[in-house]
Amino acid sequence: MDKLLARFLEYVSIDTQSDPYSKSTPSTEKQWNLAKKLVLELHQIGMQEVSIDENAYIMATLPSNMEKDVPTIGFISHMDTSPDFSGSRVKPQVVENYNGEDIVLNKAKNIVLSPSYFEDLEQYKGQTLITTDGTTLLGADDKAGITEIITAMEYLVQHPEIKHGTIRIAFTPDEEIGRGAHKFDVEKFGADWAYTMDGSQIGELEYENFNAASVKIKIEGKSVHPGYAKGKMVSAIGIANEFLGLLPSREVPEHTTGREGFFHVHKLKGEIELAEIELIIRDHDSGHFEARKELLKDIASKLNKKHGDCIHLKIEEQYQNMKEKVEPVFHIVEIAEEAMLSLGIEPIIKPIRGGTDGSQLSFMGLPCPNIFAGGHNFHGKYEYIPLESMQKAVQVIVKICELTAVQIQSNGKRKKS
Ligand SMILES: [Zn+2]
Repeated sequence: MDKLLARFLEYVSIDTQSDPYSKSTPSTEKQWNLAKKLVLELHQIGMQEVSIDENAYIMATLPSNMEKDVPTIGFISHMDTSPDFSGSRVKPQVVENYNGEDIVLNKAKNIVLSPSYFEDLEQYKGQTLITTDGTTLLGADDKAGITEIITAMEYLVQHPEIKHGTIRIAFTPDEEIGRGAHKFDVEKFGADWAYTMDGSQIGELEYENFNAASVKIKIEGKSVHPGYAKGKMVSAIGIANEFLGLLPSREVPEHTTGREGFFHVHKLKGEIELAEIELIIRDHDSGHFEARKELLKDIASKLNKKHGDCIHLKIEEQYQNMKEKVEPVFHIVEIAEEAMLSLGIEPIIKPIRGGTDGSQLSFMGLPCPNIFAGGHNFHGKYEYIPLESMQKAVQVIVKICELTAVQIQSNGKRKKS
């Protein structure tokens, strides 16, 4: 059996689901099970400086095989799987030479992966698909990324004729609960830039994500007998309603796409005395993002004037658009693009409507675009990945190492061709 496939099947069989309610790192003990295995494997394939810290962050080096100085680059993926769906006892199914028809994931439960619903399947006719058995997620997000990075490093170790600079790799815990980058030691990693192998379908290349903030609004009212309330009652529910009515009604997730930002009210509860609203703000454009925050403040102060100081607004920053940090070093995107094109892969470059670990890492000093790992339908039972996409991702990693060594000078500037 293909070594890449065997590796992937082994990793997904280890449950590494993370837990947003845990305060520890990693958030679940079981992530150590995969972490320890990966450390052994990195030694086995001949990586150097293999390290794992007390928070289960793994790092390793493939030393340069060149005389001259070239930039050090990195590849990163995450070990945990989403808390949204079970990752316990994953039993992957391998569908060879996919015929383009429905795939029965689970006969007993009548769970079917169908191209009539998931149209992307059609492009993989004739390929080898790895699916779930309908009871768990697959964990291609992001064990495919780990598999691809390890396999690419093994290939480079075995092919010293391919010239490359120092390559650093890292595997992190807890990406799915937004903490993958928190305890990442950028200085220790020591790369000039890196790529997360954590995108979805083949060709994806991403260097733009949302600016993100979360907002809590607390409204205090005054309860009075409703029959005698004229001029006295202050209804927190009524003011919450007024507040929400002043938000732009079309700027919500269900009406926006591409680079359009939104307000998303995801929680609302209220009584006369107290109402609470929770929402998130998302926008790729930092100016628009600021304007959205200002709008909330304006509404609050307007209503505070009208009703007496009753609204408390708390805005918390979450993450920023990495574009700001990637654009000044745009050759790191161009190299990935060129690597894909040279392998016959059509790059799909589009803004992420979310964030990645790379967005945080970029602001921590490690510019970090995101590259496809190959899977589809993450975080649920319909997750699947074509083996051929994983093989291509391995080739992309190898190619990026190669191109960086040839095209980029040690000062990080691109050679004129
Ligand atoms: Zn992921």
